[in-house]
Amino acid sequence: EAKRAGRGTVRLFDESMDTAIRFRGRVESGLSQAIDNGELRLVYQPIVARDQLEVIAFEALLRWKSPDFGDVQPSQFIPIAEETDLIHELGDWVLDAALAVLARWPGQYVSVNFSPRQFRRHNFVGHIMERVQRAGVAPNRLQIEITETALFDDAERAADTLYRLRQMGFRIALDDFGTGYSSFYNIRTFALDCLKIDRSFIDGMGRERESAAIVHSIINLGRALGLEVVAEGVETAAQLQALRVAGCSHYQGYYLARPLEHDLAAEVAGERYLAPDADLVPTADGT
Ligand code: C2E
Ligand code: MG
Ligand code: MG
Ligand code: MG
Repeated sequence: EAKRAGRGTVRLFDESMDTAIRFRGRVESGLSQAIDNGELRLVYQPIVARDQLEVIAFEALLRWKSPDFGDVQPSQFIPIAEETDLIHELGDWVLDAALAVLARWPGQYVSVNFSPRQFRRHNFVGHIMERVQRAGVAPNRLQIEITETALFDDAERAADTLYRLRQMGFRIALDDFGTGYSSFYNIRTFALDCLKIDRSFIDGMGRERESAAIVHSIINLGRALGLEVVAEGVETAAQLQALRVAGCSHYQGYYLARPLEHDLAAEVAGERYLAPDADLVPTADGT
């Protein structure tokens, strides 16, 4: 294809490679100043329980408004931070910000994403515990979200870390479940509270028998193991209905609510009702 398109294409490719490398460098140096310059904030996406559709918890999601680039998506800067030690600084900022909010929001838990590199950090357990204690928050009000990638590298050590976190009372969720490498065998050996079904399966549910079958299997697996199951990326009434019928216990997605700015999230915390037409809910992303 590149050959057939000729020289112009090759040059374009070189330019975009160059642009990508420059972007990377600028993101790296921008990120290292983002914390001090107050360019980071968290937004909070409601997690809604099955029966009354009340908001029982939130997932904290990181946002970066860069003076250079404007709004940068986590998918663009987290992987870059993850390749350097920046992820630790960023992760600590996220954790402290989420804990500060938790201390003021009663009766809820907040779910925080941790990258594989954070999870494998030396003395991860002690590090988290220290910050939680300093914030004066009960450990069971913090849910630690990790992906399968964090686990499969050194499964034995990961299982031990999860076990100790859970012993201390933290909640553990396996994020993007179904997209990684964990088998049913692995799941059995990890101390978990929650499976989050990756949104690609929810998205495919109405179209492909395979996705629907996978969603049903995960829900049944979670129920059999006594785990909460959160469906991610619920975008339509039909998906919500199908998930409720299938017995899925919790939902998250644009149909229920987009990630919300702090003040709005505080207002809907614990509410039994959320605008079913997600388009009417003001959004953090301005979309
Ligand atoms: P994730 O943890 O799987 O978070 C869910 C992502 O799906 C969020 O994207 C959320 O805004 C988006 N989402 C929620 N509902 C819907 C929906 O109905 N439809 C669609 N299309 N998307 C939906 P976001 O905020 O851009 O974050 C992307 C990823 O970046 C996260 O995926 C997570 O892996 C990572 N991330 C975000 N914040 C943090 C953080 O503080 N620390 C770390 N380590 N990673 C983070
Ligand atoms: Mg997550
Ligand atoms: Mg996810
Ligand atoms: Mg994801």
